[in-house]
Amino acid sequence: MDAILVVNAGSSSLKFQIFEIIDGKPEGRIRGQLDGIGVRPRLRATSDGRVLVERTYQPAEVADLPTAVGKAREWLASLDGIALRAIGHRVVHGGPDYDRPILIDAMVLDRLVEYQNLAPLHQPNNLAPIRLVMDIDPSIPQVACFDTAFHRGRPETADCYALPRSLYQQGVRRYGFHGLSYEYIAERLAEIAPTKDKVIVAHLGSGASMCALGDGRSVESTMGFTALDGVPMGTRPGQLDPGVVLYLLQKGMSQQAISDLLYRESGLKGLSGISNDVRDLLASTDPGAKFAIDHFIHRCGLNAGLLAAALGGIDGFVFTAGIGENSSAIRALLAEKLAWLGAELDHAANEAGATVVSTATSRIKLLIIPTNEELMIARHTLAIVGNP
Ligand code: AMP
Repeated sequence: MDAILVVNAGSSSLKFQIFEIIDGKPEGRIRGQLDGIGVRPRLRATSDGRVLVERTYQPAEVADLPTAVGKAREWLASLDGIALRAIGHRVVHGGPDYDRPILIDAMVLDRLVEYQNLAPLHQPNNLAPIRLVMDIDPSIPQVACFDTAFHRGRPETADCYALPRSLYQQGVRRYGFHGLSYEYIAERLAEIAPTKDKVIVAHLGSGASMCALGDGRSVESTMGFTALDGVPMGTRPGQLDPGVVLYLLQKGMSQQAISDLLYRESGLKGLSGISNDVRDLLASTDPGAKFAIDHFIHRCGLNAGLLAAALGGIDGFVFTAGIGENSSAIRALLAEKLAWLGAELDHAANEAGATVVSTATSRIKLLIIPTNEELMIARHTLAIVGNP
């Protein structure tokens, strides 16, 4: 089969998907991941729920991401009948310049390396597999799809901080992230609810953000220069007075310790002292768990107000990603916070996980739309390299 490989490389896991090209469109066939890199490495891939491979390694055997890419590549190469047309990569940062996916060559790669200092935790991992494929098989086209690109068309007033303008020129901007998810949802919305032109999308997963869509384009979002800003997340705090960071520095905390605190120890995990996983918190009777959920809902409600103001009112609200798609309890709590905007939840539809979860009389439409960032990457990649 003619296929597109989609790669999403993080610090401790490598996710990949094979899409078959059918009638010029990508269709998901194989989904895999190599996780636990350097700790408990495990390669697992499935097709239509059928396990194709499940293999564990010694920590030293797969100690880093490039080795993980090599192992995954070995396994993929052992599959019969796959003619790989191109590889699409999720790349977190496209900097100020890239407002759409791009075919990668040596010059583009150099530019993406420059953006590493804008996303030091993620960008190097995203680029490692690109470099490896370039070395091993330079003939295969590779496409970079950015989390920032979808937000790039916003006016400068929404794109800047009230800092001296020289910092804006240096790249200190409100980039916004989860752009591939929002772009996918915008496309689905056009199919499901074409008249809904002022919509807030809540991408609530282990990383969480919200985006105001006006006519299917990003008008505002809760994330800014990094993926730390906005609503609280599994282990990140969301919006924080920068004075807190100054205070911690003044107290002698190192840059590394502050980074660990903000990326790994805060959010639902830090606040509850129990878990970063909403399922654990909802199941717990510990008051800390309830407090963390209450804070999460409070901040999501406030941010919804901010985005509604950016749009001048809304006529739709979308729940997506791990929490948004799966937790009826969180949807119900958040819908209450949207009551002042005219939201009325249909509780039975919400429990059933229907697409439309608002009542017929609700002033705004509440929707659950599962996101699919990998499919978005596959579509972009195919659009750039052309059909076979
Ligand atoms: P994602 O990053 O989009 O894969 O989302 C992962 C997160 O979704 C997990 O950390 C969980 O907190 C959350 N999640 C997944 N399933 C459920 C569920 N049934 N109820 C509540 N939260 C869930």
